[in-house]
Amino acid sequence: MTLEINDNSITSADEDCAAGSSAPPVSPDVAAARAVAIARAVTDTETLNLIAARGRVASEPVHSLLDLPPFDNSAMDGYALRCADLEGDGPWTLKIAGRSAAGDSVKDVTYPPASAVRILTGAPLPEGFDAVVMQEHCRVDGEFVTISKRPTGHCNIRRRGEDVSRGDVLVQRGDLLSAQKLSLLAGSGHASVTVLRKVKIGLISTGSELRDPGEDLTPGQIYNTNRVLLAAMLSDLPWVEIIDFGIVPDNRELLEQSFADAASRCDAIISTGGVSAGDEDHVAAILREGGAKLEIVKVAMRPGKPVKIGLIGNAFFAGLPGNPNATLVTFRRIALPALRAIAGLREIEPEWQPVIAGFAYPKKQNRTEFVPVRKTGETRNGIPVVEMMARGSTASLSAMAISDGIALLPPENESISPGMTLFFENF
Ligand code: AMP
Ligand code: MG
Repeated sequence: MTLEINDNSITSADEDCAAGSSAPPVSPDVAAARAVAIARAVTDTETLNLIAARGRVASEPVHSLLDLPPFDNSAMDGYALRCADLEGDGPWTLKIAGRSAAGDSVKDVTYPPASAVRILTGAPLPEGFDAVVMQEHCRVDGEFVTISKRPTGHCNIRRRGEDVSRGDVLVQRGDLLSAQKLSLLAGSGHASVTVLRKVKIGLISTGSELRDPGEDLTPGQIYNTNRVLLAAMLSDLPWVEIIDFGIVPDNRELLEQSFADAASRCDAIISTGGVSAGDEDHVAAILREGGAKLEIVKVAMRPGKPVKIGLIGNAFFAGLPGNPNATLVTFRRIALPALRAIAGLREIEPEWQPVIAGFAYPKKQNRTEFVPVRKTGETRNGIPVVEMMARGSTASLSAMAISDGIALLPPENESISPGMTLFFENF
C-alpha cells in the first residue's frame, strides 16, 4: 500500500509515516490550498428557471439579449419637451399635446412644434424629445404647461442601453447566482439559466459514543452534534445536496463499508471523528489500506490539528476531528474552500474582516489558533472589538453558540494583547 504525503514531497509506504505522525504539519492556509488543488469541479449542467437558480453556480457566461433599458424613457413624472423649442429667456409656455404612461407605445406618434407631452416614470420618450421637466417645476393651466428654468438636454431621461448593451456579459462561468444577478438576467431577456449540478456531499459521523438527537442516552454516550452543525451549515448553500451516512461506530469493517459506499455516491465526503492517534481512531488506517490518497494529515492549528484531506477514488475526502469546535473551524477553513471549488465557484476564499482584540491571551508560537469571539463594541473608527468566549475548550458547544464567529490568532504571535488587529469570520 502506497501513500503519498506531499509535505516536502515525502512519498512513503511506511505505516507510521503514512498515518502522518512524522509528516510536519502545514499551516491552515497551505492545507486549504492543497485541498483546493485536488478538488475537481463538477461538469454536468442543468437549466433552471431563474427563481429556482438562486444560489446556484453559472456554468457558462450569459450575455444580454437586450439593451437595458430597451428604449429611452422618463425617470420622473413630469413633462417632456424639445429644448430647441425654448427660444429666448423664459418662462416658456407649451401646449400639452399628448400623454405617455408606462406601458404605452409612442411609436409613429408625432407632435406639433412647441408642444409638451405629459409623461410618467418609466414611460417611453416620444421621438425627438430630449428633456423631461419634473412636475414640481411645472405650472399647469388647462391644456398648457409653463416652465421658468431652462432644462439641460437629456435631463431626467434614462437612455436606451445606458445600463447594459445587448451582448454584454452579465454573468461569468463560476458566478454564484445572487438575487441581484438573477434580476439582471430577467431584465435582459432571460427566463432560465444553465447552472452546474449540485455537489453531492456525504456526511459520516464516526464514534461509538454517538446517538442521534431524540434517542435515549445510555452511560458513556453523547449526542451527535457535528452532523447537525455540518448539515445546517451546508443547508445554507443551495449548490449542495447532502447525503447522510449517519453514525458509524468505531469499527473498521463498518467504517470501510461506509467510506466505500460514500465514495461511490458522492463528489465529496466529510467525516468527523476518528482521525487522531487513539486506539479507536481508524479513519486514516482504513483510507490508507483502501488506497486513498492523503494530501494532508496534520495542520498546525488549534483546534483541529489531526485533519485528513485526500481522495477516495474520485471523491474528495475531508476527515475532520470530532471535537465540535475543531469540526467547525476545520470545516470552514479547510474543507469549505475545496467544496466551493468542486461546486465550480470562482470565489472560493472565506471572507474575513479585520477586528480589534479586546482580550489578552497567551498562545503557542508557530501555531494558528481559532477562537470563538463575540463583537462587544467598536473603536472610534468603527472597527469591531471582540471578546473571546470561554478559553476555547475545543469541546465547548456553549462558547460556539454565543459567539458571532471565529477570530484567527496568527502563528507568529506568542500572545494576543488588547488592541491587536485580528481577522474575524462571521458565521
Ligand atoms: P475523535 O476525533 O473521534 O477523537 O473525537 C474527539 C471528541 O469529539 C470526543 O470527545 C468525541 O466524543 C467527540 N465527538 C466526536 N464526534 C462527535 C460528534 N459527531 N458529535 C459530538 N461530539 C463528537
Ligand atoms: Mg471518535
